[in-house]
Amino acid sequence: MAVPKRRTSHARQGKRRSHLHVTAPQTQFCSNCGEAVLPHHLCSACGHYQKREVVVMEQQEAEGK
Ligand SMILES: [Zn+2]
Repeated sequence: MAVPKRRTSHARQGKRRSHLHVTAPQTQFCSNCGEAVLPHHLCSACGHYQKREVVVMEQQEAEGK
């Protein structure tokens, strides 16, 4: 099995890892309610997609229990 000849220095390790980072997910805003929505996804707040209601969401019940 191939074995590294030299240990990786911290500088080289850091250079390699400089591209490893988390990027924030891209968001759009719902045309109906203005909620932040993932592109190509149904709005989870109101059930609209492409300016029409796709899923009828249940009404939020007022502070039960
Ligand atoms: Zn919405």
